[in-house]
This record gives sequence, structure tokens and C-alpha cells, in this order.
Amino acid sequence: MAFKLSFNKKLLLLTSSIVVFCALILMGLTLKQYAKLYQDNARSDLEALSFNSAQELVQHMARLPVDDLGATTLLLKFERYKNIKLAQVYDNEHNLTSQYVNTELFLSPEVQPKQYTKQEMIPGTTATKGELVSVTNIGEGVYPLGHLVLVLDYNSVINAGVDAFLFEILPWVIGLLLILLWLTRWAQTAFISPLLKLSTLVNTVSETKDYNLRYQVKGDDEIAQLGYNLNNMLHTINQQNIQRAQRDKVLKKQQQSLEFMANYDGLTELPNRKLFQELLSQELAHNVRNNTELAVLFIDLDDFKTVNDSLGHPVGDLLLQQTAVRLRAQLRDIDILARFGGDEFVIVVSNLEQQIEAIVIADRILQSFKQSFKLQHWEFNSGLSIGIAFSDRNKVSISELLANADLAMYRAKNTGRGNYAVFESSMQNNQHRRLIIVNQLSYALANDEFELHYQPKVSPIHGVIGFEALLRWRSSFEGMVSPAEFIPIAEHCGKINDITRWVINQGFKELNTINKKLHKDMVTSFNVSAFDISNKDCIQYIEEALKQSKLDPSSINFEVTESAYIENFDKASTFFNKLIALGCDISLDDFGTGYSSLSYLTQVPASTLKIDQQFIRNMFQSEQERLIVDSIISLAQNLGLQVCAEGVETKEAFEYLASKGCQQIQGYYFAKPVPLCELPAIVNEINTKIEQINAPDALKSP
Ligand code: C2E
Ligand code: CA
Ligand code: CA
Repeated sequence: MAFKLSFNKKLLLLTSSIVVFCALILMGLTLKQYAKLYQDNARSDLEALSFNSAQELVQHMARLPVDDLGATTLLLKFERYKNIKLAQVYDNEHNLTSQYVNTELFLSPEVQPKQYTKQEMIPGTTATKGELVSVTNIGEGVYPLGHLVLVLDYNSVINAGVDAFLFEILPWVIGLLLILLWLTRWAQTAFISPLLKLSTLVNTVSETKDYNLRYQVKGDDEIAQLGYNLNNMLHTINQQNIQRAQRDKVLKKQQQSLEFMANYDGLTELPNRKLFQELLSQELAHNVRNNTELAVLFIDLDDFKTVNDSLGHPVGDLLLQQTAVRLRAQLRDIDILARFGGDEFVIVVSNLEQQIEAIVIADRILQSFKQSFKLQHWEFNSGLSIGIAFSDRNKVSISELLANADLAMYRAKNTGRGNYAVFESSMQNNQHRRLIIVNQLSYALANDEFELHYQPKVSPIHGVIGFEALLRWRSSFEGMVSPAEFIPIAEHCGKINDITRWVINQGFKELNTINKKLHKDMVTSFNVSAFDISNKDCIQYIEEALKQSKLDPSSINFEVTESAYIENFDKASTFFNKLIALGCDISLDDFGTGYSSLSYLTQVPASTLKIDQQFIRNMFQSEQERLIVDSIISLAQNLGLQVCAEGVETKEAFEYLASKGCQQIQGYYFAKPVPLCELPAIVNEINTKIEQINAPDALKSP
């Protein structure tokens, strides 16, 4: 690993190196200059000493023989000169006569001093390595008595000088170095540490991604400017990050809400049909693995449309939300609850050991809906119908399972609301029959397969006062088909308007014949469905048929069920008012089965209430049903309305109703619905019967 030096240390190293280098060069140069100066001084000193000594040696060399001792004694004075290494006296024949050796300057005593040759004996001073050698003639220049050689060792002097010099200068150099180091350190704090702080900041930001960090700008130099720019950059990045985060948040929210919208129902926040299918297929797979049973509960609110139309959509929405809450409360966490749209909910209960477990849940749900709903300032009951279908240990597909539960739900609805029904394969046959009827209805209209039967309405006092026109279908393929079967199908497949049109046209034509045959105007009632009420053309063709038939409008009555007008109250009001304007009358059919809201009753311009036949049928078995009959009759009387009881099959029922003041009686007790041709005979028969009943006891046949 490469040894990494911080910028700070590098700077310190560089400055110190430069200082040391410069100091060394300076010292070297100084020393060199010092050596040169010393050499020059030493040369002149040596030359002066040589000259003087040569003068003094003359007296000793001038003797014959040469005074060696005197010369040697003289040479001894050089002991005083520490740097004189060697002093030699040579005679004229170039023999060494005396010498002085400074043993201290010789490295070892074995080293013999050099003897100079004749050739070297040239007066003057020469510098050799570390030595100055001075040769001086003793005596007259032309005939010298000998030569004096003086050797000065300036190496040691210079070395000592250098030592002294160094000793003197080094503290300064070191001091200077320390000052320089301190200066560098100061420069570092002053200039480098802001840079270091900047660098640390950049590192921290890049590691932590915290763009809120800032550099503390001090002063206004280049570094401060750099810090300021860095802060600006961080601010910009931070702003961009915040914007990006906000945009991401919005995008994420949008994506989540899109996902939610695609998979959940916005009102109840339950899974929608799409998500439900996915969840169901997962559950089915799970049940295959565990070999357990799975049930689908198809739920439809009873009369939801009525709540929506009469109490308003906000209440309808609240009801759906509360329904979701109530349903959820009856389920286990693992059960799936979804909204299929409208007022349809679906539940999946899986991991069932036995089918009865699903039925228990359905029962519990129905019980929980017995409690009334308190929404806004309304309090009302809302029931539901449940269809249950089982996966039969996974023998059916998802679509079959759902279709089966749906069929079962329709069965539950038809057997009276607030019920559940378990799917049976016979229901599929019903479905098949429905399809056949749908297909055959158009054929029936085009081929005159319909006919009208009339059932007399009898006044306990006056006898027959009118009829109810009831449709009959003699299908060339299916034989006689009951209106109770084909009318609901015609309503759902959009054929009912054509059928009503046929009934009106045919009925109005036949009424003329009836009136003529009976020699008096009877009031005949025709049934209209909810779908006729919302059909704009209906009033128009009734008006046209009236004009064409020239019938007295007051002899025409229209029977409308309670649910039909409550479900479309506004449209029904317009429809009724137009009928009244035409001069016709209105009866409220099957009264007592639906909402029977008194406030509606007072707003509907009806002339007659028809008590539903289920109350009449059970009148003598159930005290409660009889009380209902009594109440409807007294209610009608209080409102000034006529009452018609239908489904009267027994004398007992007739007498009871007559005694209660019921003005119109309709039922098998007097006659079944019969074709036009049979009417005159039936009417006579009934009238005779009434006369009999009303005759004074004495006239009555036994
Ligand atoms: P609804 O309007 O309540 O008609 C009365 C039904 O009760 C008729 O059945 C009639 O035959 C039956 N009925 C009368 N008296 C008795 C009785 O004493 N005992 C029993 N068990 N039944 C009695 P029907 O003719 O089968 O009609 C069934 C339903 O079909 C009608 O009920 C009505 O809702 C509908 N419907 C019949 N004709 C028409 C029509 O022309 N247009 C429309 N929209 N619906 C019709
Ligand atoms: Ca009717
Ligand atoms: Ca009826």
C-alpha cells in the first residue's frame, strides 16, 4: 500500500527540505569562502614567518661547519605555532641539516616526514592537499646558504574553524528552522485548515448525502469564496432533491391511488371484481392443496334502489358503506369480502370442513341485518338476499362458481326477500328456461300468441263492478306460460314495453265488446310495470289507444305495484299525474308487501288499494296477517280510498272482508280469470250469487 501523505504534511516536508537545503548551501558557500580567506591569510603569515626565520637561520648556516644545533634550536620556536607541521633546513648541497616535526599533526609516529627534492626547492609558496608549503632561501638570493621549508597544515585549522563556525551558526539555523516550521503551521491554520474543512465537508456530504450541511464562511478571500460557492451548490442540490422527493411522493401517491382504483372499490374500500377474481383463484388453488371446501356467498341488497331514489344517493352510499362494515363484522379475517358493483357483494369462505359452516355464516349475516340502520336522520331496515355456491371440492371453475352463487341469489330473492338459497343444479335448468323464454317472447308478440283473460272484481253490495285484465301466453313451443314467470323475464330483457303496448291496444279493443255485451260500463284495470312508468312513450300510446277506442277514460284503471312507484318516485308521479289528466284511475297493487310508507301514500293520486293476496290467504291462520288486513282497510277508509282484496278463495274470507267494509273482492271464490267470451255468463253467475247473499234471510235458498 502506497504511503499516503496529507497535503499538510507534504507542505511541511517541502518547506523544511527547502529550508534545510538552502541552509546547507549557504553554510557550504560560507565555509568555502572562510577556507579561502584563511588560506590567503595563512599564506602571507607563513611567508612572513619563513622570511624571518630564514633571516635568523643565516648566522647558523653561515658557519663552517654548519651550526646544526643552533639551527635546530631555532627551529624549535615553531613549537609555538600549532599549525606548523614541519620545518626543514637544507644546506647548499641539499642535505637536510635540521628539522622540526610537529608530531601532533602527523597521523602516526611511523610516518616519516617527506624530504623535498632539489627540483622542489624553488622559493615560493605552493598549496597542496591541506598543506601550504613555503620554500625560502637562507641568505643572499643568488648564493643562498640553504633553504628553509615550512609546511603549514591548514586542514586542521580549517576543520577547527568549521567546527567553531558550525557551533556558532547551527543554533541559528535550528532556530530559523523552528521559526519556519511554526510559520508553516500558522500558514496551515490560516490557509490550509479552511481548505481541509472544505474537503471534510465535501467528504461528509458525499458519504451521508446530507445536503443540508454548510461551510461556515469566514472572511472574503478565495477560500471563503470557494466555501460560499460550495454552499450555493449544496443549496441548489438540496432544493432539487426536495423537489425530486416531492415529485416522487406525488408520483408514488398517484401510482398507489391508481393501483387502489384498479383493485378496490372507492366507496367501501373493499376489493373490486377484478381483484376478487384473483383472490378467489388463489383461494381455490389453496383449497385444492388442502382438499377443503370453499363457498362463495353472492349478496344483493333488497330494495337498495328504493333507498337510493327515496332517501337520496348520499344515504344510499352510507348504506353501502355500513353494509360492508356489517358484513365484515360477521366474517373471519381470512374470509374475502368484495364489492361487485351496485348493491352486490361477494364473500369467499374457504377451508371449510363442512358446507353447513357457510350456511351458518349466511344465517349470521341475515340476523345482523335485522337491526335497523340509522343513517343521517333516517332510521330504516334494509335486508339482503344471499346465494351460496360451493366449490364441490374444486369440481367447478371460478366462473361457474360465481354464476351458481348468482343463480342461488336470484332464487333467494324470488322466494321472498331476506333469505339465503344454496345453489342446486335444477337452478341451472331455470336459467336455461329463462333463456328459452327470452328467445320466445319476440316470436310470441309477432305471432299473436298472447291473449287477455279477465277476472271479475265484485262489490259485496252491487255485484260485478269491473275486471282485472290478466295476460296469458299460449306458446306454440312451451304451452301455457304463466305471467308470473314471463313478466319478470320480459322486464329484465327489455320486452315489457312492447308487451304492455299490446295489452293496452288489445284490452281497449275488447273492452268495447265487454261493455256492449254487459250493457253497462265496467271499470277494467290493467297492470303496468316499473319499466312502463319510466318509458316516455307509454303515456302517449295509452292516450292514442283511448282516442281510438272511444272508451270512457273513467272506466280504465291502472294497477301499479308499490315497489314500482317507490323505486322511481319522481317518474311515477309524472306518469300518474298524466294518467289522472287523461281521466283514468290508479290502484296500488300488492299493497302491504313493500315499504307502505304513509308519506308516499298521501302523495300518490291513487283511488284504490289492493291488499296483497298473501295476507288474505293467511288471514285466518295468522293473527298478525289479519291485523294487517284490518289496518289496510281502515287506512284506506281514513284516506278516502277504495279497498280491493284479491286472492279471496273462500266464503269465510269474503264475509269477513265484506263485514270490514272492503268494497271490492277479487278471487277464485267468485271466478278465475276467464277469456272474454266467457265473461257474460260469469258476470251473471256472480251477480246472482251476490243477490242471494244480500237477499233477506227469508228469500235465501236453503
Ligand atoms: P297480480 O297483478 O297480483 O294479479 C293477480 C294474480 O292473482 C293473477 O295471477 C291471478 O290469476 C291470481 N289470482 C286471482 N285470484 C286468485 C285466487 O283466489 N287465488 C290464487 N291463488 N290466485 C288468484 P296471474 O294471472 O298468474 O298473474 C300473475 C302476475 O303477473 C300478476 O299479479 C301481475 O303482476 C302479472 N301480470 C299479469 N298480467 C299482466 C299484464 O298484462 N301486465 C303486467 N305488467 N303484469 C301482468
Ligand atoms: Ca294486478
Ligand atoms: Ca296483485
